[in-house]
Amino acid sequence: MKTGNTLLDEFISITEETSYTNVNISIGEAFSSRYNATCLKKYKDDPKMLTYSHDFLRTIECIILTTDGAFSWNKISSMSNFKFQSEENFLQWDGLGYKTILDLLLKNYPQKTGYNIDHQLSLEKTVTRIILKNNSVKIKCKDGSEYSSDHVVFTPSLGVLKHEHKNLFMPRLKRPKVDAIEDLGFDGVIKVILEFTTPWWRNSGEIFLVWNEEKRKNLAKDIPFGPTKDGDHWLSWFYLVGTSPNNSKALVGWILGPMVPKVEKLSKDQMKTGVMYTLKTFLGKDFNITEPIKVIHSKWYMNPNIRGTYSYETLISKKHGPSAQEALAEPITAKDGVPRILFAGEATSSHRFGTVDGAVETGYREADRLLKILKVK
Ligand SMILES: Cc1cc2nc3c(=O)[nH]c(=O)nc-3n(C[C@H](O)[C@H](O)[C@H](O)COP(=O)(O)OP(=O)(O)OC[C@H]3O[C@@H](n4cnc5c(N)ncnc54)[C@H](O)[C@@H]3O)c2cc1C
Repeated sequence: MKTGNTLLDEFISITEETSYTNVNISIGEAFSSRYNATCLKKYKDDPKMLTYSHDFLRTIECIILTTDGAFSWNKISSMSNFKFQSEENFLQWDGLGYKTILDLLLKNYPQKTGYNIDHQLSLEKTVTRIILKNNSVKIKCKDGSEYSSDHVVFTPSLGVLKHEHKNLFMPRLKRPKVDAIEDLGFDGVIKVILEFTTPWWRNSGEIFLVWNEEKRKNLAKDIPFGPTKDGDHWLSWFYLVGTSPNNSKALVGWILGPMVPKVEKLSKDQMKTGVMYTLKTFLGKDFNITEPIKVIHSKWYMNPNIRGTYSYETLISKKHGPSAQEALAEPITAKDGVPRILFAGEATSSHRFGTVDGAVETGYREADRLLKILKVK
């Protein structure tokens, strides 16, 4: 991919070379050593380019963190099993929402002529205990209800498993599944949506916000609230703002990095002050920026039903013999030798973890497993 911007093209080419290596080192380490050997050498006598490229490093880290949902690129292994499928990742639901996927699976789109499973669904139920019996499984829910079943397919996020697995399962899960849960990565990202009465921007697209030394210094005095870490202000991880494909009056911003859990906890007013300060700092000279009528930010990391965003492969998870995702997907078998507790969800996909199609494919995988057990064709 070429953009015509020399520095950006150089950084993209380093990213392409270092995101998929044959050795288990972090993407951060792989990128930095290639950057030191190329950019640093090339621009050693050009202080302006050296400063630009130094400032742009954070932006590159953020692009990678957006893909992997990690808090740091030093946690992500560059030796990945992930298989890319070019454009499919960017399909939109055209305003219909993510729930449309269920309509598609149930053959209820474009017309509601497929399966109706409403009477078989119990919503707003939090499973608190999964108890393996001799030849069945018992489920206990937060509202006191209980269910018994021959088999269970459990599909929570990896974040929920990390947080709850010790309390959820009776008996407790064993290694290597526990290793997989603990070692695979599941951190978080924040999306900020800003709604305006009328758009003040001219074109659709995305803009990288590259923080230089001066802007960073001003942050501390101009926005004196919110978390800081290692001398970094939380807003220095606000790196991208773009238009929304289905709402011409909305902008979408991305905030990443190690402070995500604390940034999620900021109040609406603090978030609004921070993101508007940033937009005015970067775009105020070129646009007549108006006040938003609404600012909301995601809180996936603190959400007890998710506890993060999407899974990624860490340096530690890549040390497992068989893939950590395979260990996570392995069903739990009862004394009768029959798989009773089955696992699906994006983090159990060996090649498409972190994606919707990866999650769907694992559902089919476990359904096929069940059909074989039940000897149904
Ligand atoms: C900002 C963002 C952007 C993304 N962009 C893309 C993209 O462009 N393309 C793409 O393919 N993917 C994208 N993804 C990833 C994709 O959304 C996920 O990989 C996918 O939704 C995972 O599906 P899942 O069924 O495995 O898990 P989830 O969707 O997390 O479903 C798990 C379900 O389990 C429920 N649950 C959890 N704990 C319990 C419990 N104890 N009891 C009962 N129920 C429980 C939860 O409420 C939830 O409904 C994105 C994700 C985010 C956050």
